[in-house]
Amino acid sequence: MRFLILSDIHGNIDALDAVLARSPRDSYDRLLVLGDLVGYGANPNEVVDRIFDLTPDVMIRGNHDKVATGVEGADSFNRIAAEAARWTQKALTPENRERVAALPAGPKNVDRDVEVCHGSPFDEDAYVFDEEGAERALESAHRPICFFGHTHVPVAYIQKGADLSVLHPQPGGPETTVVNVVKKHRYLINPGSIGQPRDTDPRAAYATYDSRKQRIEVRRVPYRIDLAQQRITEAGLPESLAFRLGLGR
Ligand code: ZN
Repeated sequence: MRFLILSDIHGNIDALDAVLARSPRDSYDRLLVLGDLVGYGANPNEVVDRIFDLTPDVMIRGNHDKVATGVEGADSFNRIAAEAARWTQKALTPENRERVAALPAGPKNVDRDVEVCHGSPFDEDAYVFDEEGAERALESAHRPICFFGHTHVPVAYIQKGADLSVLHPQPGGPETTVVNVVKKHRYLINPGSIGQPRDTDPRAAYATYDSRKQRIEVRRVPYRIDLAQQRITEAGLPESLAFRLGLGR
């Protein structure tokens, strides 16, 4: 089984289309989407339409999906995120607002080996930023391979018995970072963010998993950042959201 794993697209259609061009429909069997389809970027409807057209096998909501559809208030958001959420709520068509609002909370089991969550398996909104958070997440995971998002930083935590190792793909490094899956070990993998990377690498980030080859790949794809920035500016969204795309942070 070949999986395509997408997270934190954040209304960035230019980044999403670059990823889907690199990993077209015949390159995977099952699509997993880890939440935050919208928020920050200028093309929430295009992103929601594109993703729903692909009929993901498992898709969960992110915190921005909740706030931008009124499922939750913006109390936990900073000023700019809240402004973007308000903009997104107005921009979404009623149909898309309904579809995004109806997304289920994670975690969700995908099969016997794989589960997905937005933040962490114990709390959909919790951030896993370090080894301590990763250990807690791995303890509460239901499957040996757990894909998570939310931080916008690609990383692989690998637990071998009592040892935890961390693999950070090098910002600006190769387009593919490989994690070979070994039975008995446990994996907590963040594919990174498609629409708003924050690891100082502005390229779109995503992951694939081939269960037959026992191989996870965390991938980077360049895209037309200038177009995404221009759309943010033209939409009247906060200028800093365009600026940070160029920095990848
Ligand atoms: Zn996000």
